[in-house]
Amino acid sequence: MPVSPEVTATISTTASGLAPWACDPTRSRGRAQTEAAPRHRSDFQRDRDRIVHSSAFRRLEYKTQVFISHEGDLFRNRLTHSLEVAQIGRSIARALRLNEDLVEAIALAHDLGHTPFGHAGQHALNACMREHGGFEHNLQSLRIVDLLERHYADFDGLNLTFETREGILKHCSPEKARQLGEIGVRFLQKEQPSLEAQLANVADEIAYNNHDVDDGLRSGLLTMDSLAEVTLFRECRETVQARYPGLDPRRTQHETVRRMIDALVGDLIETSQATIDQRRPQSPDDVRRTGEPLIRFSPEMAEQARELKAFLRENLYHHHQVHGVMHKARQLIHDLFSAFEADPRLMPENYQRHAEEIAAHDPHGAQRAVADYIAGMTDRHAIREHHRLFDLGTLT
Ligand code: MG
Repeated sequence: MPVSPEVTATISTTASGLAPWACDPTRSRGRAQTEAAPRHRSDFQRDRDRIVHSSAFRRLEYKTQVFISHEGDLFRNRLTHSLEVAQIGRSIARALRLNEDLVEAIALAHDLGHTPFGHAGQHALNACMREHGGFEHNLQSLRIVDLLERHYADFDGLNLTFETREGILKHCSPEKARQLGEIGVRFLQKEQPSLEAQLANVADEIAYNNHDVDDGLRSGLLTMDSLAEVTLFRECRETVQARYPGLDPRRTQHETVRRMIDALVGDLIETSQATIDQRRPQSPDDVRRTGEPLIRFSPEMAEQARELKAFLRENLYHHHQVHGVMHKARQLIHDLFSAFEADPRLMPENYQRHAEEIAAHDPHGAQRAVADYIAGMTDRHAIREHHRLFDLGTLT
């Protein structure tokens, strides 16, 4: 069917079908080690594939999001969370004509650096590393893809493109940014990352806010009545109840959460598209030079998202049962760190060698290697290591 001139005037896409503000793999800033272009896929697809084939990616399956894995098989873990982020991110990317492959690569890699036991593990490891440069899961994700995965003959890490690495590094202190070279520049110059990176970041928030509602209800720590104080939940539930009177609670829960995701995603697409149309960036570099994110909710939806987040913080993440488990997890991380720092020979040989290598040029290298080892553990590996080192009963 012929397209009218009015329509063609409003559709401005590159030859690949991407919008001019989208990242184009043929114009990538490239990889630290130059490689021949892949034959049957784009460079961002190659990044995505390397992430999926990494060991750090497989470990996500056994890392806690909010609930420790042995609390039940249906709760999200970091792997299923990352898949949900990728799904939400890709849907929005397609609607905004952004690069779906890049969004997917960033989404699948964004949580690789998380310690076992969620944020409790991160806080504990950061406390252990206080005198040695600290520990931050976001920087650790970059460290994994840049250095710690060691499967390739020609380089350490996964040798990902600048654009995927840019998206993985969500935040960074000026001090760290100065040490990171090109990837840290935007934090010093107060620039934004690509729209794909901005999108992966918001998709992360949409995913966890909603699946934590779902998991919170499943666990019994949250109830639908308590959640009714959250505007977005209440309005979506009322829509479901009006349309399906007498629907059983499980289906009501699912129908409510899917409407919440849909409301957030719809608002994000419409508001972001309007903002992009208004600013008219001509390239990803134009996007980077804008002082504020262009991927955003309307003010009303941003307020509703904030309200939901605050509710979850207060009623789920700080629930005394979650808190109690996480208290033990913190202690476990402290115990492991002290043991490995005092005697690196308690670590596997490859980590002993890793410690020697980085200690040769970094005064905090011995501690950094311990942090790398602990951060890489799954929940159950950390628990097993703790038994091995501290459970005196196993001596008998
Ligand atoms: Mg996440």
